[in-house]
Amino acid sequence: TQAHLDRIAAVDGDVHAFLHLNADALDTASAIDKARAEGAASGLAGVPVAIKDVLCTLDMPSTSGSKILEGWIPPYDATVVARMRAAGLVPLGKTNMDEFAMGSSTEHSAYGNTHNPWDLSRIPGGSGGGSAAAVSAFEAPLALGSDTGGSIRQPAAVTGSVGVKPTYGGVSRYGAIALASSLDQVGPVTRTVLDAGLLHDVIGGHDPHDSTSIPDAWPSFADAARAGQREGAVRGLRVGVVSELAGGEGFQPGVVQRFQEALALLEAQGAEIVEVSAPSFQYAIAAYYLILPAEASSNLAKFDSVRFGLRVTPDGQPTVEDVMSATREAGFGDEVKRRIILGTYALSAGYYDAYYGSAQKVRTLIQRDFDAAFAKVDVLATPSAPTTAFPLGSKVDDPLAMYLNDLTTIPANLAGVPGISLPSGLAPEDGLPVGIQFMAPAREDARLYTVGAALE
Ligand code: GLN
Repeated sequence: TQAHLDRIAAVDGDVHAFLHLNADALDTASAIDKARAEGAASGLAGVPVAIKDVLCTLDMPSTSGSKILEGWIPPYDATVVARMRAAGLVPLGKTNMDEFAMGSSTEHSAYGNTHNPWDLSRIPGGSGGGSAAAVSAFEAPLALGSDTGGSIRQPAAVTGSVGVKPTYGGVSRYGAIALASSLDQVGPVTRTVLDAGLLHDVIGGHDPHDSTSIPDAWPSFADAARAGQREGAVRGLRVGVVSELAGGEGFQPGVVQRFQEALALLEAQGAEIVEVSAPSFQYAIAAYYLILPAEASSNLAKFDSVRFGLRVTPDGQPTVEDVMSATREAGFGDEVKRRIILGTYALSAGYYDAYYGSAQKVRTLIQRDFDAAFAKVDVLATPSAPTTAFPLGSKVDDPLAMYLNDLTTIPANLAGVPGISLPSGLAPEDGLPVGIQFMAPAREDARLYTVGAALE
């Protein structure tokens, strides 16, 4: 913990991964050291963790990157945070993110940009750019993120880290400030696949506080990663390459090249590479950017100036509505307002069937494409993101260009299946990290750890 605090002091002025540091981190670490000396601590006890600011922490502010929650300290811990503390992990602090997890570059944070440690002029990905940058800059060995449309996997890809979006229902959402409840999942961001498995084992499993939490027992993901390190682990594994997402328009050539090289490595280890088609995936972005704003507009309605955070009271004798609207006007950033407007429009009477209803039908088609693909293969592979980290400022004023970054990550959220992103080398044209993504059927997260560790 001391070493990581020193590292944060040395580099976070440039990287700006953290919004808040845990003042008790060293005391907590000492207490755990003492317990360890007495033989009362095990596993990851004493290892520090960076926590995305979307997660509620009862001893630190939790802003979700928004001014509307500035300084708000929740009265409880998210289940994942409580489980980490119980396992003796040391919360280091809270990490920067796009406001309410809306974005792919962390530039929509109300608290300034995070910089990619590989090249400070570039984005660290988003929305969880802070967690990925902290891990990549050696400010934290482990981090937690949330992934609604790629916010764990894409930042992991562009910072050379490992990120896992678990099966929907595999990790509790209790205390994760909701973006789109049918898509959100919490998961690990780490430097190795085994580290991700170790952290997933701590945070995952049934939670009665989350009504969508899967009640069944899970295998150990650390064991699944260790299995992948053994000779012959992927022999006979059928790896499906999604032809619609394997290259072409929008994909940087070096990303495609590293993707193909990674597949060749798997083939050399005895995996079978099979081409599969998922024709509905081309509509995933369109469906997602209706479903997500619809759910987000509903989830964000609770920021009403009464219950949480900011309250702006206009002059004169304002009504409740005046206070609410002045607060939301001042407290929400442009991207959040854009999505609230889109979402309320898509849900409004008369348009519901045309927009939200159609998007839900597309969601079903995407789920069917996954079912058809997984009837033929064990895992699916795509590049984790179409490009490497782009320059800060280059897409922030162009929402559609920003949304296109999510091309390869969104299908997994729409279908609830798990996905992992892991490093697959550096792109020859810019020397920046490239990520490869694997997806597995729901509840088969273990496969991702095995294939990921085999490739590492
Ligand atoms: N880039 C996606 C979006 O802006 C990802 C969000 C997420 O996973 N939280 O919606």
